[in-house]
Amino acid sequence: MRTIIRNGTVVREGERISADVLTENGTIRRIAPQIDEPADREIDATGCYVLPGFIDTHTHLDLDLTNTVTADNFETGTRAAIVGGTTTVLDFATQDRGMTLQEALDKWHRKADGKSSCNYGFHMAMSEWNEARKAEIDAMIAQGVTSFKMYMVYPAMRVTDGQIYDALHFMERKDCIVGVHCENYDLLNARIRELHEAGRFDPMAHAESRPDAVEAAGVSTLMKTAELAEAPAWVVHVSCEASLDEMETARGRGVEVYAETCPQYLVLDIAQYREPDAEKYIMSPPLRYAHDREALLNALADGSIDFIGTDHCSFTMAQKALGNGDFAGVPNGGAGIQNRAELVYTAAVRSGIISIEKMAALLSENAARIFGMYPKKGVLSEGSDADIVVFDPNVPHTISWKTNLHNCDNSPFEGMPVLGKTRDVLLGGELVVENGTLIKPHCGQYVFRGPSARPRK
Ligand SMILES: [Zn+2]
Repeated sequence: MRTIIRNGTVVREGERISADVLTENGTIRRIAPQIDEPADREIDATGCYVLPGFIDTHTHLDLDLTNTVTADNFETGTRAAIVGGTTTVLDFATQDRGMTLQEALDKWHRKADGKSSCNYGFHMAMSEWNEARKAEIDAMIAQGVTSFKMYMVYPAMRVTDGQIYDALHFMERKDCIVGVHCENYDLLNARIRELHEAGRFDPMAHAESRPDAVEAAGVSTLMKTAELAEAPAWVVHVSCEASLDEMETARGRGVEVYAETCPQYLVLDIAQYREPDAEKYIMSPPLRYAHDREALLNALADGSIDFIGTDHCSFTMAQKALGNGDFAGVPNGGAGIQNRAELVYTAAVRSGIISIEKMAALLSENAARIFGMYPKKGVLSEGSDADIVVFDPNVPHTISWKTNLHNCDNSPFEGMPVLGKTRDVLLGGELVVENGTLIKPHCGQYVFRGPSARPRK
């Protein structure tokens, strides 16, 4: 099967060229100004960008919390992902206490295999760090899992600073990388107690319970921990200027830190917690202030943020109501898996803050390198997998849960106007999205990942 994408602006590492792209049997065969070869299918990309398929570094699909399960599973979540141009999601397989890493990985394969409309790999989120878990790491690597996550908060998941220290050091020697959810657990609990005592249970109190200092305190601890462990770390979902400052200071000392942010922290505001149905904005970290958004947008431009994930963790309004009027009981998370590229394009590229080449790096290439998928993924290059997005930069539209394919009756971005839309998607050379419509579901494959390439090493 040969496909030629003609007349587009092809975005490669640090450059854009007018060229045709020929794919054959799932890989990119040639990129050249004019390809005169026969093909089974031709796609006209006039006026569009041709980009490497996007990689979402942070999703929670079919995640079981104690009292409910996320609204999206792999069937619905990856359907929404692929029409938004995301050809690979890295989902957090989650090891609950008492479970082995192997049991968690098997469980996630059962959730995803055969049901996914985009490719998928797994980070392993670990609720324990001990000799038994350590003994499983080689087996994880042998099954394509080379990135891990630990939490400083959530009673069911949190580990100690000492365990994070030991894990960072151990994983560095295995060419693996650890991401950490950074918030200071004790400070957070003290704030929640204080707010409850003052009679505050409203959604705004969620943001007040975990202000930027709570996050930055966690980041600061992680930076010292990574420094002591002489190992890299990645900070998941950076939401505020104070955390950026901590990372910049640490980088000045030689700490190798990678940073992820999410679209919600680039475009939404703390004032949203005063809206009706504000439970839909209850996520951690919470939404912040204008100066944080500005700092994060600048960090995209200056390279201090490495990649952008959605932290897609969707709940219906009925599930959000499980909080019974107390912010501390509301399931944390929001839906964003379909809208990442158009939000980043609108907020950062169209506004002149970053180039389209930089967007390709932030949505695809950098993650491919750090998470062991490069150069098969993350780049349009001869020999790479033919995961390709044709993105039309001139389509204005409005985000709504009613038109999104995710399985959830709300969106934090409801009613937001954006410019630019994924038009067509090739997944492994197959045209799976045509003119914005998913025409071939369930083509997603498991992505077996290798060692982290660590561009900041
Ligand atoms: Zn998350």
